[in-house]
Amino acid sequence: MKLGDILISESDISRAISEIAAEIREDYGDSDILLLGVMDGAICFLADLARELPNSVDMATLRASSYNGANPGDVSVEWLPPRSRVEGRRVLIVEDIVDTGATVAALMEKISEMGAASVEICALLDKPSRRVHEVDVAYIGFDIPDSFVVGYGLDYNGKYRNLRDLRELEGQF
Ligand code: 5GP
Repeated sequence: MKLGDILISESDISRAISEIAAEIREDYGDSDILLLGVMDGAICFLADLARELPNSVDMATLRASSYNGANPGDVSVEWLPPRSRVEGRRVLIVEDIVDTGATVAALMEKISEMGAASVEICALLDKPSRRVHEVDVAYIGFDIPDSFVVGYGLDYNGKYRNLRDLRELEGQF
C-alpha cells in the first residue's frame, strides 16, 4: 500500500472551495448559518470554507461513524454537542466525502429531528458510483471515481490527514 500520484492539487482544492463559498454566499446572503463539520475528515475543509464565508456563520463539529451497525451501511451518529443551538437554524453539514450516502442521510435526519429550520449538505468530494442512499448534496467540490483517497483531512488509519493535496492510496488494504 502506497501513496499514489496527486489526484487533486492544493490549488485546485482552494479554487473549488472559493467557488463553493461564492455559491453559499449567494444562496444564504448574510443570514445566520450553522456550519456543522463532520469530524475528523472535514477538519481542513471546514476551516478553509468557513474563512470564506461571512462573519455571521457559526462553526461547530459533530462526530459520525459509519458501518458500526449490524448491517453494512447502518450508521451510528455520535455527537460532540455543537456549542450553538440547532433548533430554528439553517444548518449546513460540511462533510469530506459522500460515498454510499449513509452518513449524510443519517445526519440530515438527525439534525432535522433536532428542529433545524433547514439542512443542506456541502461535501468536498463525491463518489456518485458508490451511492446506496439517495441524498441531495447541495454543494460539491469534485466528483471522483471509486478509489480510496487520503489527504486534506482524509485519513488511512489516522495517517495522511495533513497532506495538502488529495491522493489515491494504492495497493491492498
Ligand atoms: P458513506 O457513509 O457516505 O458511505 O461514507 C462517508 C465516510 O466514509 C466519509 O466521511 C469518510 O469518513 C469515509 N470514506 C469514504 N470514502 C473514503 C475515501 O476514499 N477515503 C477516506 N479516507 N475516507 C472515506
